Amino acid sequence: MNIKKSALIMTILLTSFTMADAVSYKKYNIILKKAVRMYHALPASNIKWEVIGRSNWKNRIYYKEFGSGEKLTLVIGGLHGDEPAATISAIKLAQYIRKNPSSITNRVVIIPCINPDGLIKGRRTNGRRVDINRNFPTENWSTEYRKKFNNPGKLPATEPETVIIANAIEKYKPDLIIQMHQPFNAIYPEKNTSAELAKVMSEISGLPVSDDIGYHTPGSLGSYGLGMDYKVQGITYEMCSIDYEPDYNKVTQSLIEAINYRD
Ligand SMILES: [Zn+2]
Repeated sequence: MNIKKSALIMTILLTSFTMADAVSYKKYNIILKKAVRMYHALPASNIKWEVIGRSNWKNRIYYKEFGSGEKLTLVIGGLHGDEPAATISAIKLAQYIRKNPSSITNRVVIIPCINPDGLIKGRRTNGRRVDINRNFPTENWSTEYRKKFNNPGKLPATEPETVIIANAIEKYKPDLIIQMHQPFNAIYPEKNTSAELAKVMSEISGLPVSDDIGYHTPGSLGSYGLGMDYKVQGITYEMCSIDYEPDYNKVTQSLIEAINYRD
C-alpha cells in the first residue's frame, strides 16, 4: 500500500470515528421516530400517494408524480434506513409541491422512502441486511463489502427495493436522479452532471459541492445511472449528521431548482 492510499484510509477512519463518536443517539432516535411516523402517515395524507411496490418485509413503497413538461427528475429518499432526514426531506418536498404546484416547471417523481424496512429498524440495510446502494447491476458491482454494512447482496439486483428503482428508471427515463442521504454535508454531482446545477443547489442549500465521496461505491445507484445508455445525470445529496435535521426549506428550494433547471 502506498503512502497516499494509507493516508486516505487513515482520514476515512478518523472521520468516521469522530463522527460516530459525536452522534447523540438520543437525538437521532427522536428524529428517526418522526421519520417512521411520517412514513406510516403517507396513505392518510392529503397527497394521493400510490404504491410502486413492496419491500422485503412487504412494507409499502410509495411514489407520487407531480408537474408536467419535457424533463423529469426522480427523487429518491431513504435508501439507508438510519438516515431519517433522507426520508423526511423527500416527504417535505412533496408537501411543498402539493401546496405550490406552480413552483415546478418540469415533472418530478418522488419515492420518499425506498427502504421502509431499514427505516423501521433504524438501520442502513434492508430487511435482508443488504445495502440497496451497493446492489445495483452495474459493471463495477462487487462482493468486496459482503460482510459489512455495505453488503451488496448475493448477486446484483436481488432486492425488491433495487428492482423498484431500476423499473422506475426504465419507465420514467429520468434526466436527473437525486438521492437523499446523510451525514456528509455536501452535494456530489456525478461526472456527467451539470456543474452549474450543483453550484446553484449549493448556494441555496449552503452545502459545498464535492466531486469525490472519498471511498469506493461499487453497485451504487449513481454508477447504475451513469451506466445507462443515455447516461442519466445524478446528484447524491448528503445532508447533516443523523442526530440533526437540516433546514428543510433550504433543501426543498434547492430540489425545486434542480427539478426546474436544465441547461
Ligand atoms: Zn446513505
